[in-house]
Amino acid sequence: MPTNDNNPLRHLPQIEQVLSHPSMTCIAAAFTHEQLTGVARAAVDTARTRIREGVCTNPDIDDIALDAANRALLFLKPSLRRVVNASGVIIHTNLGRSVLAKSAQQAVADCVSGYSTLEYDTQTQQRGSRHAHCERLICALTGAEAAIAVNNNAAAVMMVLTEFAAEHEAVVSRGELVEIGGSFRIPDIMALSHARMVEVGTTNKTHVSDYERALTKDTAMLLKVHPSNYRLIGFTEAVDIHGLRRLADQHNAAGGNTETLVYEDQGSGAFAHLDCFGTYAEPTVAESLKAGADLVSFSGDKLLGGPQAGIIVGKRELIQRLKDHPLARALRLDKMTLAALEATLRIYLEPEVALTEIPTLRMLCEPVEETRKRAQALMDALEKALPKRCAELALTDEIARAGGGALPMCDIPTVCVQVTFLVGDAQKCERFLAAENNTPIVVRLKHEQILLDARTLVDDDEMDIMVAGFRTYFEKLDS
Ligand SMILES: *Cc1c(COP(=O)(O)O)cnc(C)c1O
Repeated sequence: MPTNDNNPLRHLPQIEQVLSHPSMTCIAAAFTHEQLTGVARAAVDTARTRIREGVCTNPDIDDIALDAANRALLFLKPSLRRVVNASGVIIHTNLGRSVLAKSAQQAVADCVSGYSTLEYDTQTQQRGSRHAHCERLICALTGAEAAIAVNNNAAAVMMVLTEFAAEHEAVVSRGELVEIGGSFRIPDIMALSHARMVEVGTTNKTHVSDYERALTKDTAMLLKVHPSNYRLIGFTEAVDIHGLRRLADQHNAAGGNTETLVYEDQGSGAFAHLDCFGTYAEPTVAESLKAGADLVSFSGDKLLGGPQAGIIVGKRELIQRLKDHPLARALRLDKMTLAALEATLRIYLEPEVALTEIPTLRMLCEPVEETRKRAQALMDALEKALPKRCAELALTDEIARAGGGALPMCDIPTVCVQVTFLVGDAQKCERFLAAENNTPIVVRLKHEQILLDARTLVDDDEMDIMVAGFRTYFEKLDS
């Protein structure tokens, strides 16, 4: 039977004790009393939880006060900050997907440093529409009649299903009931939007006749979902947009309660045909519209290479219904995103320029010899800065990935700087570069070596950041 004194919970310090500990008093000038009390309480709570879970049996005031002080200091440090991506995953969802083109960065800066024309028509001096800024460009680039951009593609899918398929039937192939990542699954979005999902076909094969049998008077939509992050290979069959269009036309001609629409959730949203990928190239938005889709939706920050957004293109009267929907207000874009999106779209007016100016497209399509030059420059800089006894450096041919659910089967040839550790080790260095370096550096680990992929590097100063990061890691080993 433990006595009270053996109960470690009784040894937890009072909040006042934590506040008067030197770790806290030395930072006290930078914070209010409420802020300090808040972090002290959080640190004591954490210690209590650790005792209850049996992780800690002997709470130490020094540790708790240091934890509290670190919590306070974290307030001063940006949590969302720039990262050097040396991983070779181009549309890296965890690292913010697409890097904005220079002109898009500038457009954001310009529009937030003062007031803007967000909803102001300079010609009439009347209220304007925020939807107008990007619509003309999107239409010019895709051949669509009309367009609307919302918060992201998940929001776009939700809006389309809610407006056009709620309380009606939406037919979708079992091969396309995908999970995109996180909590975005097609069956769940269907349920959320009150569309009645009608599954047809099998996982690997869906025929025109499968859709045909599913059509009823109440079919509001034939939905096609781009599988994005995986590919079915082998004994497979799917019906393309042409096929769905023909079916919808026949069905609509026969007359029903609701018009049957063809909607494609394209996911990636390619504007440019990426010839560098040959048969892996994704269909462009223009191609899906031309093939007969009434509506197509896609992301702004995947293959398009712009800011986070979801873009819906299609028939004018359908897009108008979306603009009038209450969800359009709830899911609308802010001025920073609109500025970045408009500037990104403008670059596509010259497709050749887009391939070099839009970082995502540059990374996807750059000839490997260009990547090799960048890798060589990085290796030279590292070689100059690091003592010979620390590491061996070499260039190695590797495979980069598109990421972001685009081009999943596509091997993109790339060149990495391979770091072999003569002192220290790769895992610990990886951890240091990500967790302790001022600008986190995300690398690849392979066989006890670190690989620095030159394809996903953005600016020249990233080389300096990496050189400094490695140098600091090796210096810390010495001290
Ligand atoms: C990525 C993706 C989505 C979600 O798009 P977000 O812009 O991330 O919201 C939806 N559908 C498909 C097919 C996708 O690939």
